[in-house]
Amino acid sequence: MNEKTPARQLADVVGDDKARTIITAGWDALRPLVGAEQLHGGVADYAATVVALAVLDVLNISKNHRIEFRADGWTIQHPLACRDDMFGCPLNRAAEDLNGPPSDLGIYECQVGQDGCFEVLGRVVPEATT
Ligand SMILES: [Zn+2]
Repeated sequence: MNEKTPARQLADVVGDDKARTIITAGWDALRPLVGAEQLHGGVADYAATVVALAVLDVLNISKNHRIEFRADGWTIQHPLACRDDMFGCPLNRAAEDLNGPPSDLGIYECQVGQDGCFEVLGRVVPEATT
């Protein structure tokens, strides 16, 4: 169970400004369907946010960085919140120190550790079997 509000979860994935834009766009899309009078009390914001989170989930868009290790190399997947300044992303510099994939190829969550080093976290795809 995620204890963050849907709006906070959305902002964590796409950034605060884009989250506000998405929620507003969702509100605008919902309004003609159900009537503005039905949408008071933040219900529209909530509905739009929950739908947006579902879409991100279907599209497999994470708030975290991911790295795909293939036999011929690796590719970093940046979260949406990072894409406005991807060249400035500290993970790119940390990745220069990567010296090979883990024993199992696949997609892993990753981050820059407190010491500035590249950290590979849990495996995302394919699911670990053990
Ligand atoms: Zn990044």
